[in-house]
Amino acid sequence: MSKLENSEILQPALLDILKELHSQYKSLKEGVVANYIPELAKVNPDLFSICIVTTDGQIYEVGDFQQLFTIQSISKVFVYGQALADHGRDYLLTRVGVEPTGDAFNAIILDEQSKRPYNPMVNAGAIATTSLIKGKGATERLNRLLEMYRRYIGKDIFVDISVFTSERSTGHRNRANAHLMLNFGMIDQNIEESLDLYFQQCSVMVNCRDLAVMAATLANKGINPITQEQAVDTCYIKDILSVMYTCGMYNFAGEWAYKVGIPAKSGVSGGIIAVVPGQMGIGVFSPLLDTRGNSVRGVKVCEELSQRLGLHLFDCALS
Ligand code: GLU
Repeated sequence: MSKLENSEILQPALLDILKELHSQYKSLKEGVVANYIPELAKVNPDLFSICIVTTDGQIYEVGDFQQLFTIQSISKVFVYGQALADHGRDYLLTRVGVEPTGDAFNAIILDEQSKRPYNPMVNAGAIATTSLIKGKGATERLNRLLEMYRRYIGKDIFVDISVFTSERSTGHRNRANAHLMLNFGMIDQNIEESLDLYFQQCSVMVNCRDLAVMAATLANKGINPITQEQAVDTCYIKDILSVMYTCGMYNFAGEWAYKVGIPAKSGVSGGIIAVVPGQMGIGVFSPLLDTRGNSVRGVKVCEELSQRLGLHLFDCALS
């Protein structure tokens, strides 16, 4: 029996817990919205939503769950899955490592010896991963990623052009990372096309429910629990969840693993996804960020959900 069933949380009680957490943390106004991408600075800082989708397809949601925002770094998880599907685990490991950095997400840094970026959840590793997405030219590669998102979310989604152009015209650190990798032969010559694709994958619009459905798909062996479509081969779920667990929360990943204890990924627009394998996906959206780039309310909500529902993977007390 799963921990969740074990803890006898009845369905209405789960919604009650979300409502309680939402009203408890609505008044928390700590943090600042991301402003290094000018378009992101325009967001309403009060937006706040929480959604849980279970692997049997039930949806629990509170707050501004229809509100669209750009997915940002949460995209890295899914694009990593696509690159695994395109090339396989062994080849991917020769191009991108799986080692946490302890550095900021946008650090301009490669592993000294191998010249690989440390992992696919930091910007350098994500750009290298995106550069591996197959397709004949920019349009086909973008369409393959949009199709990938469609499988995970269950509907068509779109790139927000103003965020994309805002990122593209200000993403000098990302460009520096790409040039560093080009210098060591870790990505191919066509870096502008890959950078555009990276900026586009970050600029797709999702809402909080979409995030939870995507997370629930990872929790459900790669099968979207609403549409029953296979979004990614089951054999890659362990690779994806492992790097989320060790590297997904920027340079807070260790503390997150210790306290919350489930694979997760955050993005600078204020989204967080968290995956409870076999049970549920969690999505939280609140744009006020702490100094590491994680949503302040999002971290609090996940910490509390983990404690109250006994979600920590290594918590033996409830099994
Ligand atoms: N598009 C953002 C960047 O490359 C993503 C950063 C993030 O969400 O962590 O800077």
